[in-house]
This record gives sequence, C-alpha cells and structure tokens, in this order.
Amino acid sequence: MYPFMCILVILTCILFVINLLKDKVEEKKEEKLEEKEEEEEYIIDYKADETIRVRLCDTGEVVAMDINDYLRGVLPAEMPPYYDIEALKAQAIVARTYTYKRIEAHAEGEDADICDNYAHCQAFYNKEQILKIWERKGYDEEQRKEYWKNVNKAVVSTKDQVILYDNQLIKAFFHASSPERTESVSQIWGGENLPYLVSVENQEAEDYANRTSTVEVSFTDFVTKLKENDSSRSALVESDCKDVHICDYTTSGRVKNIEVGSYKISAEKLRTMFSLRSTNFTIELKENSIVFHVIGNGHGVGLSQVGADFYAKSGMKCEDIIKHYYTGVDVVTLP
Ligand SMILES: [Zn+2]
Repeated sequence: MYPFMCILVILTCILFVINLLKDKVEEKKEEKLEEKEEEEEYIIDYKADETIRVRLCDTGEVVAMDINDYLRGVLPAEMPPYYDIEALKAQAIVARTYTYKRIEAHAEGEDADICDNYAHCQAFYNKEQILKIWERKGYDEEQRKEYWKNVNKAVVSTKDQVILYDNQLIKAFFHASSPERTESVSQIWGGENLPYLVSVENQEAEDYANRTSTVEVSFTDFVTKLKENDSSRSALVESDCKDVHICDYTTSGRVKNIEVGSYKISAEKLRTMFSLRSTNFTIELKENSIVFHVIGNGHGVGLSQVGADFYAKSGMKCEDIIKHYYTGVDVVTLP
C-alpha cells in the first residue's frame, strides 16, 4: 500500500508542476503576442502594393522592397527618432515626395530607383541596423521600442501622401537647422528659382547642439585646399589670407561669396571644402589662421528639421509644418 501511495503523491506533484509550467508558457506566449501586435500596429497592411529597387552602395546589391518598408528605413536615418511625431510625419511625407521625384527623374539609372548614399539620394538602414545604431547611442530597450513604433506610425499614418506644387511633385529639399530664416534655392545653387523653395521665417529650439559651431583653418591649409580645388587659383599666397573678407550676402543673410587676394569664392563651395556646417558665418582673422563662426546646420533650403520639431511641439500639424516651409504647396494623397 505504502509504495502505491508514494507513487500517487509523486505523480500528483509532477502533474502539478507540468500544469504550472504550461500556464507559464501560455502566459509568455500571450505576452509575446501582445508585444508583437503592439509592435506591428503601424506596420504592413500595405505589403507589396508597391515595390522600389534600392541600391545598397556598400555591396552594390539592388534590393526590391515595399515603398513603406523603404521609408521607415529612411526616416530614422535622416531625422532623430525622438523628435515630435508631427515632425516625423512631415519628414516621412518629405522623404516619400523626394523618393518619387528621384524615380520620376530616373536619377539612379535603369537597374535601380534610388540608393542609400545620403549625398546622392537618401540615407537608408534596415530595421536591424537602425536598432543597433540606437543601442550604440545608448537608447534603452523601452526607448528603442517607442522610437520604432513612432517611425512606423509616421510612415503608415501618412501613407501615399506627397507634396505637390502646380500638380507636380516638388523638389523636397530639407536640412537640419537654420535659425531665424531658411534660404531660397536660387541663392544657394543658382539656376531656376522655384517658387516653393523661397526663404521663410524659421523658429528653432535654442538648445540644439549644432546651432553654433567653429572651424579654424591655418593660412597654409586654406591656400593649399583652395588651389587643389581650382587650379586657376595658382597665384594665391598665404599673405593673401590676411585680408580675407565677405563680399556679399544672400537675401536671407547668409554669406554668398568671400574674397581672398584677387579671387572670389562661393560660400557654398567653401562650406563643403572646409566642412562648415552652413554658409551662415562670420570670419575672424588670427595671426596665422582663419576662424569661421557658423550658425545653423545644412544648406538651409526647404524644411528645417529642428524647426519642424519646434513647430510640432508648439502644436502644429505635419501638413501645416510642410506648408510653412514649402510656399504655396498642397499635401495630397495619391490614388
Ligand atoms: Zn542615388
């Protein structure tokens, strides 16, 4: 009798433990499902309705993907993910417009629609890369989840929305920061004057890290680089640097050209040559060097991201933010 009782007790215990484990597994499963549902809330009810071909410049590989999958990889590569949701939505509409405009212009040739080089098309990372970048930046798991959700929300809630001027897709230029005023496109790159890319008033948070910056260049480096950039400047000598000065300004108050010796150099060229954050600068001359005191970050044309975040936090909706930066445009949903 006794061994039988023992076996019964042991069996009961085992059954109890199995049930307990089963419950735990069920609970975990449910938790996982909930998490997944929450995560997928703003993802993919649009799968495969339109595919674009993205050239990954590192490997040269061309990958086909859904336009919205592509855009949710562009958005966090181009704008900080902790910006206000209305700023993220504005950037999503800008990125979509920019993408379609590139496709329309066959900017990437015949075998691809767009590439992931920010200097040629738009920056792009896949989800795995983005989450790794955020981890390296020190965003904890909760933050990463929240940011990814907002990125998806920004893309999906603006699905098919683009910016038109006169029924044409606009050239949706954007930049990081231009305190006080944005720039007119013709003032920076010359060429055609686009009526929607004109200088407008701009408000930005003053605590933006790159609002002001300084670059110091020795006379030697300055002359060397200017000569390298254009061989017709071969007569330049270091002593010419002692009277470097700004000769004229754009209508928004940025530097248009500077003069060194008998040479005029465009500020936009100078910006790329010496990695100045913008052409909104003053010049300070030291004994053997030139110091550029720079305000803002980027070319200044179109939407300012820091400004978009500022206006969003003041209660403006994405469509109004877009209409503020691009004069006379419409935000429309493509059929
Ligand atoms: Zn490209």
